[in-house]
Amino acid sequence: MKLHEYQAKKIFSRYKLPIPNGYICKNINELEKAFYKIKSNQCVLKCQVHSGGRGKAGGIKIINNKNDIKIFANQWFGKMIHTSQTDNNGKIVKKILIEEAYIDIYKELYLSILVDTNNLCITVISSEQGGISIEETSKKTPNNIYKIKIDPFLGPQLYQARFLAYKLNLKKIQINKFIDIFMKLSSMLLDLDLSLVEINPLIITHSNNLICLDGKIVIDNNAKFRQKNIFKLYDKSQENAQESYAKKYGLNYISLNGNIGCLVNGAGLAMSTMDIIKMYGGMPANFLDIGGGIKTKNIIKAFEIILNDKKITALLVNIFGGIVRCDLIAQGIIEAAKKLKINIPVIVRLEGNNAKLGYDILSKNNINIIIESNLNNAVKSVVKAAK
Ligand code: GDP
Ligand code: MN
Repeated sequence: MKLHEYQAKKIFSRYKLPIPNGYICKNINELEKAFYKIKSNQCVLKCQVHSGGRGKAGGIKIINNKNDIKIFANQWFGKMIHTSQTDNNGKIVKKILIEEAYIDIYKELYLSILVDTNNLCITVISSEQGGISIEETSKKTPNNIYKIKIDPFLGPQLYQARFLAYKLNLKKIQINKFIDIFMKLSSMLLDLDLSLVEINPLIITHSNNLICLDGKIVIDNNAKFRQKNIFKLYDKSQENAQESYAKKYGLNYISLNGNIGCLVNGAGLAMSTMDIIKMYGGMPANFLDIGGGIKTKNIIKAFEIILNDKKITALLVNIFGGIVRCDLIAQGIIEAAKKLKINIPVIVRLEGNNAKLGYDILSKNNINIIIESNLNNAVKSVVKAAK
């Protein structure tokens, strides 16, 4: 589960990490009041959404008067923001964080700590070239990014913090401040079952202070039972509405940007189906895994969710009957076709448990679908039909 920046910063402050003075607001009124309370000539306004890249999308602005607050608030409250990290829908802005702005920035560092499942350890990543172009730094000059491994049993060590501080070319007066942040952040990750904590930028001011200007936290969903207070911070508005609706019916749905709907069972089959679609020049519009013990009702829901996506021009149903029986799926498809208005081409491929029976059921009923038992041919026809 992701947290908002303002929620992450609240947790940072509990750990006595240096953060800017600020207030979280849900309307213009609150923003204006907070502006006077902060008593700084310059303030920064920051849209609170579960996405980075807000700076480049215009979701962050430094202001120095009430009128600019009004303009920014009218531009964003209740509106969708589209960043390089959001899907086509964007994310809704319900809250704006107002903070004292830091103007005397000497350097923007990058610092993150994450559970690194590839290397079975905790990895710290940092760079002297943080800020909004960290992705470019990692592509163009990967040598400027430093990684160290924390042993999950030994925990973070001071020598590791010093090693990084040295790599980041910190001045003597900055080193202890960095070490302090490093140690607190790593213990926070361990205490709170986080899978990621990221500060970008971690700024150094001209007066040699280090401040966490941004904050990102992702908590491991498996920790729900022992981190109840953090899970209370869940913000449903940041989820894709269709995706959370699907979850209610045991469907694993992720919306993508293409135009070919995919209704598949099993995550592995879903991924390989998407690969084959791409191989034949198509673009999947979604990932929808209906899972194992599927009921007819849920198949109808699955169709409903896919058909709700207006960018879809053709649909591929690709089912491997292992636990699930293909005849049940066929029955579900027929009921879905009766209930919903399907006016795009639907290609169905069934394989495995009772596949033949499934095809029989489908062909006996007079519904408008194309049966194609060969996967390559099924994908070729859906790609063609989608055009
Ligand atoms: P993100 O783009 O979603 O990662 O949002 P950030 O919180 O990282 O803000 C993006 C950029 O805005 C930062 O890298 C800074 O360059 C700039 N920024 C944010 N807060 C301040 C501030 O208080 N002062 C100044 N000068 N720049 C800021
Ligand atoms: Mn950032």
